[in-house]
Amino acid sequence: MDVGHYAEYDVVVVGGGGSGLAAAASAAEHGVSTVLLERESVLGGTTGIAVGSFTANQTRLQRQQNISDTLDDHAVDAGQFAPASIEACNNESLRRFFLSQAAATMEWLEAMGLTFHGPSPEPPNRVPRMHNVVPGAKAYIAALQSKLVSHGGRIVCDAEVTQIVREEDRVQGVVALVDGERRTFRARAGVVMAAGDYTNSAELIARFKGERFSRVEGINPNSTGAGHLLCEAAGAQLLNMEITYGPELRFVPPQSKRTFQQLLPSRGPLLRVMGRLLPLIPKPLMAAFVRRLLVTWQHPEDALFEDGAILLNEEGRRFCDERQTPEREIAIADQPQKRCYMLLDEALQARYGEWPHFVSTAPKIAYAYVQDYLRLRPDVAVSGTLEEVARRRGLSEKRVRQSVDEVNVERGDTGVLAHLRGKRWVLLGPAKSYFTTTEGGVAIDEQFRALSRQGEPIDGLYAIGQNGLGGQILWGHGLHIAWAMTSGRLVGRQLASS
Ligand SMILES: Cc1cc2nc3c(=O)[nH]c(=O)nc-3n(C[C@H](O)[C@H](O)[C@H](O)COP(=O)(O)OP(=O)(O)OC[C@H]3O[C@@H](n4cnc5c(N)ncnc54)[C@H](O)[C@@H]3O)c2cc1C
Repeated sequence: MDVGHYAEYDVVVVGGGGSGLAAAASAAEHGVSTVLLERESVLGGTTGIAVGSFTANQTRLQRQQNISDTLDDHAVDAGQFAPASIEACNNESLRRFFLSQAAATMEWLEAMGLTFHGPSPEPPNRVPRMHNVVPGAKAYIAALQSKLVSHGGRIVCDAEVTQIVREEDRVQGVVALVDGERRTFRARAGVVMAAGDYTNSAELIARFKGERFSRVEGINPNSTGAGHLLCEAAGAQLLNMEITYGPELRFVPPQSKRTFQQLLPSRGPLLRVMGRLLPLIPKPLMAAFVRRLLVTWQHPEDALFEDGAILLNEEGRRFCDERQTPEREIAIADQPQKRCYMLLDEALQARYGEWPHFVSTAPKIAYAYVQDYLRLRPDVAVSGTLEEVARRRGLSEKRVRQSVDEVNVERGDTGVLAHLRGKRWVLLGPAKSYFTTTEGGVAIDEQFRALSRQGEPIDGLYAIGQNGLGGQILWGHGLHIAWAMTSGRLVGRQLASS
């Protein structure tokens, strides 16, 4: 695609995930010339692989179900998810401002044809606030992309932004590599940085969180923190960079690039039909649908290890104290191929086969048990004799047997942890330790202007989504996407009127 060596737009958006697409669609909708630059060949970013939950208060769906809610209540409840030491770092006023705008963002998305299921309860939220887009987060990408294009916005993929151009104390545009050539995109109104998080940046993780975490991967390999570094180089302050969600143990994603969720229609008439049918779908059926999502991305509960499950590496060896976290996750990242497997004996299989002991969950929505993994994820769950399960995953049968014998000797007769025994075994994995999100971002004000280390707005530079978290702590489900969409919608509208 020929974009010329030099191009000028009102708004230049960097990053084609949820926040960038929302910003570009909103700017274009309000009549200004807009270009979106995406480094990868396809749009989506982490948003495109997410579940799609969107948490908000005073929504249309809450009203429809007579759920009475207030901004004040939500502002209090949003502070109950993170541990106190992390919540203490929160930018209270910015998070409250965001929560005051999230319901309007949902209505904006609904007007594009998106449909939400719920709201579902997610304690400690005192009322149900979690809405799930149907069929999943890919629907955001499809709807926003089509809105952007229909309003004349331009999308350039395979365009890696490598520099923010700052001249005469104003950000004037960016330089991107397109088809191997450096091209300048000038922005009359502003540059919006929406380049996602740094979960897969060994450099940023080592710098802010510590070297020992730097071998842990991000779920999205493309989350490189480039936007954070570009903003920092342009003079912006970075906040809360040491705070991460994870590392957590998670099963590797299904081999097939297209998950069950992604096979469902995410745009067009079929999606609208699905939306209309949604309220009629019986709850057990909906729970079964959600369970498929649970076995795709959710992490196994720590309780499994408290009850005696052990971790083995690719060689069949135990390599850590399974009950110590984050040491467990750091040790996993140091194993061959950074992978491990969970071994469950007969007693553990029985225990994690029914409520209240589950392998993974989205609380109060659905729970996945051992048999769900065996049925829905044969790529990460096998059962059989100890030798059979080891063989099927390519682990040394002898070494696995030795690991079981060793752990039983170690457990002795204390009765604290039961011996592993039985004829039928289940091996769950491969699993890895991953960072899910990073919570550090560029300091911003309520107009999304990037702030310098002195707290002054940097003229012409804006940051949104994970790139521009502004010191907010968005723990719990559904707030990251709500922020990505809300910050994008508002900055696009604002730049169009500037
Ligand atoms: C498995 C999983 C499930 C999740 N589920 C949920 C959920 O249900 N609800 C929720 O609220 N949150 C969820 N999250 C978190 C949430 O999805 C993300 O925090 C959010 O979508 C991030 O949006 P974003 O626009 O900031 O970044 P992204 O969607 O990651 O978009 C950033 C884009 O910028 C591009 N980019 C990066 N650098 C450059 C560059 N130099 N030049 C050009 N382009 C660049 C990237 O390629 C990417 O496309 C989930 C996260 C994971 C990992």
